[in-house]
Amino acid sequence: ATPSSLPIKDCTSITPPYPRLLKTLDEVRNVLPKGAKLTLAEKILYAHLRNPEESLGGGGKVRGERYLKLRPDRVAMQDASAQMALLQFMTCRLPSCAVPASIHCDHLIQAQTGAESDLSRSIEANKEVFDFLESAALKYGIEFWRPGSGIIHQIVLENYAAPGLLMLGTDSHTPNAGGLGMLAIGVGGADAVDALTDTPWELKAPLVTGVKLTGELKGWATPKDLILHLAGKLTVRGGTGRIIEYFGPGVPAQSCTGLATIANMGAEVGATTSTFPYSDNMRQYLHATGRGPVAQAADDAAKQGFLSADEGAEYDEVIEINLSDLEPHLNGPFTPDLATPLSSFSSFLNENKYPTALSSALIGSCTNSSYEDMSRVASIAEQAKAAGLKSKVPFLVTPGSELIRATVEKDGLQDTLESVGATVLANACGPCIGQWKRDEHKGEDNAILTSFNRNFKARNDGNLKTMNFLASPEIVTAMAFSGDLNFNPTTDSIPTPNGPFRFTPPSGDRLPPTGYSAGDLSYAPQPSPTPSPSTEIAISPSSTRLEILEPFGSNFANGGGELSTMTCLMRVKGKCTTDHISAAGAWLKYKGHLSNISENTLMTAVNDQGGKINKAIDINGEEDTIPRTMQKYKQRNEPWMLVVDDNYGEGSAREHAALQPRFYGGAMIVARSFARIHETNLKKQGILPLWFMDKSDYSRISAHDKVSTNGLEAVMNGTSSSPIIKLRVEKPDGTMEEIETRHTLSEDQIEWLRYGSALNYIGKVARD
Ligand code: SF4
Repeated sequence: ATPSSLPIKDCTSITPPYPRLLKTLDEVRNVLPKGAKLTLAEKILYAHLRNPEESLGGGGKVRGERYLKLRPDRVAMQDASAQMALLQFMTCRLPSCAVPASIHCDHLIQAQTGAESDLSRSIEANKEVFDFLESAALKYGIEFWRPGSGIIHQIVLENYAAPGLLMLGTDSHTPNAGGLGMLAIGVGGADAVDALTDTPWELKAPLVTGVKLTGELKGWATPKDLILHLAGKLTVRGGTGRIIEYFGPGVPAQSCTGLATIANMGAEVGATTSTFPYSDNMRQYLHATGRGPVAQAADDAAKQGFLSADEGAEYDEVIEINLSDLEPHLNGPFTPDLATPLSSFSSFLNENKYPTALSSALIGSCTNSSYEDMSRVASIAEQAKAAGLKSKVPFLVTPGSELIRATVEKDGLQDTLESVGATVLANACGPCIGQWKRDEHKGEDNAILTSFNRNFKARNDGNLKTMNFLASPEIVTAMAFSGDLNFNPTTDSIPTPNGPFRFTPPSGDRLPPTGYSAGDLSYAPQPSPTPSPSTEIAISPSSTRLEILEPFGSNFANGGGELSTMTCLMRVKGKCTTDHISAAGAWLKYKGHLSNISENTLMTAVNDQGGKINKAIDINGEEDTIPRTMQKYKQRNEPWMLVVDDNYGEGSAREHAALQPRFYGGAMIVARSFARIHETNLKKQGILPLWFMDKSDYSRISAHDKVSTNGLEAVMNGTSSSPIIKLRVEKPDGTMEEIETRHTLSEDQIEWLRYGSALNYIGKVARD
């Protein structure tokens, strides 16, 4: 038995509905060809189908082709994205949520001086948002995790994740919960509203990439290094439209929280989500976190073959990784797929003339703040302390939850870390999401090491020149004692007055030997609270941060037809993540106020014509910022479109990146390629996303060209099943060009376009 000082939880609302799921899976097997072998990802997805015959019937290829209509089990929302999700949910005028849901106050907590002061200052600064979220939670019966309770993904793993579950989360690292053998998918608020309103949630059946793990991790290598290595192999696009399913003898040996780290960073390769077969380590984690009844139910479901792939199931591609050969990696700067093994990191830095002085070391976050991470890190700190060393640079620790913080404190690990110079921050996102108030190195080239998951420019401290290298918490910690990025802790020594000191490989416990400590019990909300319909939603009409959402009008005069004479506003060049389209940092405070946050639209995007950042030329030749140019089009009531590059909208699930262009009157975006979540978000908000058939056609549409669709009407009225939509492009000199694109609209998505947005359509269906 695994020690647990936590009381056994009431597991009624958190145990997956296994009997229903197994019954649906039986129906699925009757619809699929006899004897079809299913991957684990397919089993979980298909067990959540609303109507197996409708989604899978009629034969033919499913993965990568068919749209699945699904019934997710649960929704989790973080404080930044929950605002817009709830504002949208409110427009549907339903009395309660259709599935259990939780809200987590984590993104709006700033890291500046230390846990207590940061928390009280952030609560004060964001009071109206937290009050709004709490009032909505009360009204609709949603579990509310108040500021200080922890980071959404860690809390979900500790409380709600369960093998075989299908969960949506309004955050791109929702897949973290895959560490417990489930499918957890990051979506925009509008998709979350589908689940909250019991509207079929639609997903194009993903391809399944199998990753076979053999061998065993040794020495300094960790699950983080596995995903850093895999990110290098797959790149930020390699997982697009795919679920990554791990299998092989190397899987059961990994801790549940280590698997969560791997699943978490599957988001960095664009994967829909990641999952693993149910294992003894998952069972132990469930027991240790007070969820024995969930483990027992999962054991039964596993016996019926639900929680692992069928013998002989086929993957769309298989990547094999021998864990015994894996060495620590450092990924970056500025992109998580630039993977460098530790042994060549020094030469990599020197060849690229990157700074070699470390300016700060940061560990924790939703990615790497498990008990195992913290105890291994503490083993490094103990060694350094015994050698008389202290961290040479600011060393910040972000616990993922109150459970972790209290347990780390109880077991003395926090004392160890603080004794070598660490500052423990609040249980919140803080420096991982631009909420790090740092006065040093403003505007200067400098290098930081983090155990976080994402390292796009300016992500941590708002400084475009801060180079963030991602590594395991063990490597980040060891490097903090050297302060020099040329230092290889596995082979090099640090000089001390008593002679050279060299680390031995870290060690630690997967689960706390004397059990977890719950810490401040007041953080945990009552499970599945009853809705309180009389609760007033707290939004002040004079608020600059919250604004009641007005529905968008349809772009189609008579409910269908072509989109005609849109002006091309600009051609966006190169990498354009959702951070570029709707920046985070200081803008996070306007998440619930569409008019105000729209003023950041595409402000870090590069204009392919002229190469300037945040500059667009209006039709009269006037140069202005991109959002102000968009505003001018909106004032003139002139529809516009954008041409964008590859993997447009990669990164987070931020729906504002779709809402804002729509708010300013954007009607269509034509891309070399789209990131999956963002493409769906555009459709949800009534913007038509199209893919160039020939990527070199990207430069054939220029700013001020007039663009019309040809073939959209037939798609919308159902007379064409062709994915091809032609674009007629009229140049300013009157010459015409025709360009072929393709759409990816499903039948429901066509309705979203027709009615102006998915919510308009959902509202109409509910009223009818
Ligand atoms: Fe928070 Fe960073 Fe995790 Fe996102 S990735 S949930 S910002 S800690």
